[in-house]
Amino acid sequence: MKPINRREMLRQSVHAVGTVGVMGAGLAAFYGLSRSSGTHYPVNGGKYHEGLLRLIRPPGALEHDDRFLASCIRCYRCQDACEPGAIQFFGERTDGQYHSPYVDPSVKGCTLCMLCTQACPTDALTPMEVEEKREVAMGGVELREDMCLSYKAQRIRDEQAMMMELGESPTESTQMVERRGPCGECYMFCPLRERAITLEPGGFLAPIVHKEHCVGCGMCEEICRVMVRGEPAIRIVATRGMVSRS
Ligand code: SF4
Ligand code: SF4
Ligand code: SF4
Repeated sequence: MKPINRREMLRQSVHAVGTVGVMGAGLAAFYGLSRSSGTHYPVNGGKYHEGLLRLIRPPGALEHDDRFLASCIRCYRCQDACEPGAIQFFGERTDGQYHSPYVDPSVKGCTLCMLCTQACPTDALTPMEVEEKREVAMGGVELREDMCLSYKAQRIRDEQAMMMELGESPTESTQMVERRGPCGECYMFCPLRERAITLEPGGFLAPIVHKEHCVGCGMCEEICRVMVRGEPAIRIVATRGMVSRS
C-alpha cells in the first residue's frame, strides 16, 4: 500500500466526514484537542434536571448539613442581607429542608461578598470577611470543553489553518469564529480569578479550572448560561447532594 504524506492524510481526514460539525470534531480528535472526553455533567446528562435541585448552601454554612439545619432558625436575615439576590429558600414541601437557604447558580451565583454570614444570628453561617473568600466551600466545579465557546473557537482556528493548507475555502464553521469569537467570561466573573480559573495561553480566552481552589460560588455558571444560551459549559457540582424540587 502506497504511503501517504501529512497533506494527504489531512485531505482524507477532511473528506472522510460529511458535515461541518462532524468535521470539526474529527479534526479536533486528530489534533488531540478534545481533552474533555469522558467528562460528564455532575448534575445530569444534558439540561438542568427538572425534578432536582443541587443542595448548595450560602458561604460559611456549617459543614455537616444536619448541624446547619439544627442551627438555622429560618429568620431569612441572610436573604435580606444578600444584595445580589443569590439566596433562595426551600418551600414547605421540600423534604427535610423546610424554609432553609440555598444558592442556585442556574438562577443567580454568589459574589462572595460575605454579608449573609455577618447577618446570621446563630452562626449557622459562620461569620466571614470578604478577605476570607478563599476558605469558602459551597461546591465544586466542572468544565465541558466540548461545549465551551473558547475551546470551540480554538478548534475552528485549527480547522481553518488546515483548510488553508489544503487550499480550500473557509467553511461556515470557520467563519463562525469571527461571528462568535472566543469568550472568557467565566474567567472575568470569577471572584477567584487567576486562582480558581486561569486562561490557556494562545489568545482564545479558554478557561482552565483549578478544582482545588474553586469554592463553588457559581458566578462562572451564571455568566456561562447567558453566553452559551441555556446550557452552560461550566457548572457547579453539589458536594452536599441533591434535593427534590417538590
Ligand atoms: S456572600 Fe454575598 S452574594 Fe453570596 S450568598 Fe452571601 S450575601 Fe449573597
Ligand atoms: S463562560 Fe462558558 S463558554 Fe465562555 S469561556 Fe467560560 S466556559 Fe467557555
Ligand atoms: S471557578 Fe466558578 S465556582 Fe469556582 S470560584 Fe470561580 S466563579 Fe466561583
